[in-house]
Amino acid sequence: MSALPRAADLGLISCHVCGLVCRAAADDAGRDGEVACPRCGSVLHRRKPASYARTWALLIAAFLMYIPANVLPIMRTASLNDIDDNTILSGVVELWVKGSPDLAVIVFTASIVVPMLKFLVMAVLLISSRFRSNWALPQRAKLFRLVELIGYWSMLDVFVVALLTALVRFNLLSLVEPLPGVIFFGLTVVLTMLASMSFDPRLIWDGRDTND
Ligand SMILES: [Zn+2]
Repeated sequence: MSALPRAADLGLISCHVCGLVCRAAADDAGRDGEVACPRCGSVLHRRKPASYARTWALLIAAFLMYIPANVLPIMRTASLNDIDDNTILSGVVELWVKGSPDLAVIVFTASIVVPMLKFLVMAVLLISSRFRSNWALPQRAKLFRLVELIGYWSMLDVFVVALLTALVRFNLLSLVEPLPGVIFFGLTVVLTMLASMSFDPRLIWDGRDTND
């Protein structure tokens, strides 16, 4: 791979807020050692401050929320003769058995596969960047963009429950109600999104100079 210099090597910092690339010298720093963007005035950072600690904290919190999200029931379905509380997994099985395999696949992907992959990818990115690994740099940068992209779609499962609730409300003889598991699932999604936002992808490229 060609050794293009990093902005940090050239004394350049890009502004998080307005995107302006600034030349920042140490003597530009204000009283508290911070350099402000000349265009929008926000504080410039070569790397997001405490990016590792924040991302780990949010990721671990998300993982902890993911446990009750799976153990607690997310949805109650009731009809004239029975009441059923479903967790994510039992809901997937029930959808499959009751003849909606397409919906079962969507729910399984959105609520089991995607969160698990996100935990795994973020942990790999954090550990490999922390150890300044120069392994598969462009691929790791792409992985990060993928995690950010699928972040928007992770609420799909909550929407499925909301949709089913609304649909079944029209049928007077049966009932679908969201249960507390959905709240924990929503928290998992929000926390993993915050985790990927607090990770600074520029940290990936700091590993480029090691073992070259
Ligand atoms: Zn700015």
